[in-house]
Amino acid sequence: MNYEVPGVGEIEIKVIVLDLNGTLSVNGQVPDGVKQRLDKLNELGIEIVLFTGDQRGTAQDLCDDLGISFVRCKSLEEKEKAMGNYDSETTAAIGNARIDIGTFKKAKVSVATLQAEGIHAGILEHVDVVVPTINDALDFFIDTNTFAATMRM
Ligand SMILES: [Mg+2]
Repeated sequence: MNYEVPGVGEIEIKVIVLDLNGTLSVNGQVPDGVKQRLDKLNELGIEIVLFTGDQRGTAQDLCDDLGISFVRCKSLEEKEKAMGNYDSETTAAIGNARIDIGTFKKAKVSVATLQAEGIHAGILEHVDVVVPTINDALDFFIDTNTFAATMRM
């Protein structure tokens, strides 16, 4: 997916890395509307990958349901290392907590989701955009006008 951003230029995103708790799920539940948006992003040619410690052992079933893949990462350092497998020029990240700084640091565009669980203030210097919900975060990448309006100079 290509975004033409006034004052910045073209940004291409091929992969979006998601965090699980507080990002893809809120209080343990994936909000309504997420699956449809993930399908849409897939149609637009964006690969979605979940980075999670998988402490509850549910990541495989969840990702099968949602049609996405996942990588086991238990710490900020493991998330940062896993990001090394993706092109930092074309990979975006969505997260909410300090552990996600490892992901944010190597992403082209980073989005924080406030939601009911909140975000840690320490992540603010590492993110480009803050949105209220995961659905807003996914819409940010679906709607090129929203992306351009928020990212433009
Ligand atoms: Mg989280």
